[in-house]
Amino acid sequence: MRNGLVLGLTLILLPGRFSARGPLLKRYEFSLPRMGTIFRIELYSPDDAMASKAAEAAFARAEELEQIMSDYREDSELMRLAREGASAPFPVSTELYDVLAKSIRISELSRGAFDVTVGPLVELWRKVRTTGRLPDASELARAKALVDYRNIELDAARRTVFLKRPGMELDLGAIGKGYAADQMLALLQSRGIRQAMVVAGGEVAVGAPPPGEAGWKVALDTPDVGAGNPPCTLLLHDIAVSTSGDSKQFVEVNGKRYSHVIDPSTGMALEGMGSTTVIAKDATTTDALGTALSVLPAQDGIHLAQSLPGVAVYMVRQAGSGWKKYFSRGFPAACRE
Ligand code: ADP
Ligand code: MG
Repeated sequence: MRNGLVLGLTLILLPGRFSARGPLLKRYEFSLPRMGTIFRIELYSPDDAMASKAAEAAFARAEELEQIMSDYREDSELMRLAREGASAPFPVSTELYDVLAKSIRISELSRGAFDVTVGPLVELWRKVRTTGRLPDASELARAKALVDYRNIELDAARRTVFLKRPGMELDLGAIGKGYAADQMLALLQSRGIRQAMVVAGGEVAVGAPPPGEAGWKVALDTPDVGAGNPPCTLLLHDIAVSTSGDSKQFVEVNGKRYSHVIDPSTGMALEGMGSTTVIAKDATTTDALGTALSVLPAQDGIHLAQSLPGVAVYMVRQAGSGWKKYFSRGFPAACRE
């Protein structure tokens, strides 16, 4: 694994810069597959060894988190919890406890539009990719009966999780990458690297701006972008941003396009194309909220975002043959044309 890690690193050394008083800082870039996507780190450091050791430690942290949160690895902590957590309260790591507590908070805010107990429905919709057949009403009803975040019982004092219904399945696919990005950025910062950006698929966490710049450039991957319509680019520091609505993750049945995001209230996968970009203080929040707001009707999503301090949202939704855009108050003007 260690070898794989080193081999997988790509290092791009760009011309260095002088800051007025500080040391010579060089820009480094590293990337590695993690959690079913590509993770990328950009950072500035005065020293090659310091940069690569910090990046290596950050990727190792992502690997630790994947072993805790994966629903693909049978031996992950999450999968053990799903198997044993309905018999008795199950003691969990601080990380799993933390990410579940944050998940439940987003579920409460979104009234269940985001729900990490969505596992049985995700499984049903994963099957559609191979069978090409939509789930029928009884399959949907059976899976839906197991989906409700209120059936997760957390005990903070004992750090245990109890699943109130046997057969519940947890899925951190809509929050885990954001959580990993936050943890990786914090790790880089704890090693004295403050000018850093972590990109985990569509989840981005940024620290202090690059030397001499106002922020990190983040180009938004929205479905309206194409020939003659360049992406909106934000300039950000000490914040996080996610764009949900991965245009590559969908299945087509009878000419209809179904997203990998599911509306837990109906059990149905979202239809059509769209994207939701969320800015907030951390990527755990932007990742989960991005998925929650994709499920909610656009206006409800905008209202929810505006009720949360430090949160800004930009949505693109299909409207006939074109696009309709929605902005919350406070979203950077750069994207409003
Ligand atoms: P996007 O970036 O397109 O929002 P994410 O990668 O954040 O997508 O999350 C999608 C994944 O989350 C799905 O593949 C599935 O595992 C899980 N998921 C789907 N629907 C929900 C939901 N309503 N709440 C929580 N998790 C979900
Ligand atoms: Mg998400």
